[in-house]
Amino acid sequence: MIIMKTDATEEQVAQIVKEIESYGLKADVSKGAYRTVIGPIGDERKLPFDHISVLPGVKEAMMVDIPYRLISREYSNSFEGFEHMTIKVGDVEIGGDEPVFIAGPCAVESKEQLFKIAEGVKKAGAHILRGGVFKARSSVHSFQGLGAESREKAEEALEWMQEAGKRFELPVITEIRGETQIDLVAKYADILQIGARNMYDQDLLTQAAEKGKPVLLKRHFGAGIEEFLSFAEYIAASGNKDIILCERGLVPVGKGKSYTRYILDLASVPAIQKETYLPIIVDPSHATGRRDLIFDMSCAAIAAGASGLMIEVHYNPAEALVDAQQQITPDELKDIIDACRRINKIVLPKRNKN
Ligand code: PEP
Ligand code: MN
Repeated sequence: MIIMKTDATEEQVAQIVKEIESYGLKADVSKGAYRTVIGPIGDERKLPFDHISVLPGVKEAMMVDIPYRLISREYSNSFEGFEHMTIKVGDVEIGGDEPVFIAGPCAVESKEQLFKIAEGVKKAGAHILRGGVFKARSSVHSFQGLGAESREKAEEALEWMQEAGKRFELPVITEIRGETQIDLVAKYADILQIGARNMYDQDLLTQAAEKGKPVLLKRHFGAGIEEFLSFAEYIAASGNKDIILCERGLVPVGKGKSYTRYILDLASVPAIQKETYLPIIVDPSHATGRRDLIFDMSCAAIAAGASGLMIEVHYNPAEALVDAQQQITPDELKDIIDACRRINKIVLPKRNKN
């Protein structure tokens, strides 16, 4: 990491970037209100920090030996000193003082289904509409989402998402499961979702990031926190720091019935906030797999300091084609949003100190 002097010129910054590139690395240039910081991307051990530290305009040059340095607090503190980065999507601010609620069906099933749910979640107070077009399914025999039917059907479903988003004034998010889907999804969605199963797909992360739209990255169900952040770093290293992290549970342990679909790791929320300035939200739907636990885990997630929630909603959960057992109704969502807003008021002063 190279911290420039407050009066460093553009030329001096460009010179340092050139110097870094001459060693085969790339450079991330972050301009704060007072100073510029340059983060080398690649193997920092190749760089002569002693030499760089005496170049014109340089205040300090040092190796930051963590795999997620561009999204680390060390990095942001050195040029901006901000505690939490906020990401703006339309009028919605993610990572600000108010929790953000992302809600909608697990899978888009039809235009009518999507519009009815979009209207319901809007009335309940949600800010962003979710809906899977390309679904990640464990069995090839179950409904794969409309995206699996044909390219035309995928585009049609994405058009419905965009239309529903416009009609109910909700930015929309949907998952990209493979590289061939990136251009199509980026044409219609406001936020690109990378699912838990694909957290490790560095090419997918890099190429999705290059679209310049915010990316929501879900934690793989077997990933440690350092690993999770290290893969988020791939997005930042592509020049896109509009990254929303999402905790969605880890694989259950022990013998016998586990009673929850995954283990919701809520301690990861404040732990991750100590490491990075990026906002982190929680998905209690996939984490528990049980609609009767969504209220409790939503409240707990906001109490733990999460910047928001992603919740699956259906007007008639029992008839949902995917994840019927964990979807809740718009009325239940409203109760959760009301409770979470109250809890947020209590924990906000503490969260801002994390
Ligand atoms: C989803 O949000 O639609 C989803 C499939 O979740 P996850 O990637 O966390 O399993
Ligand atoms: Mn689902």
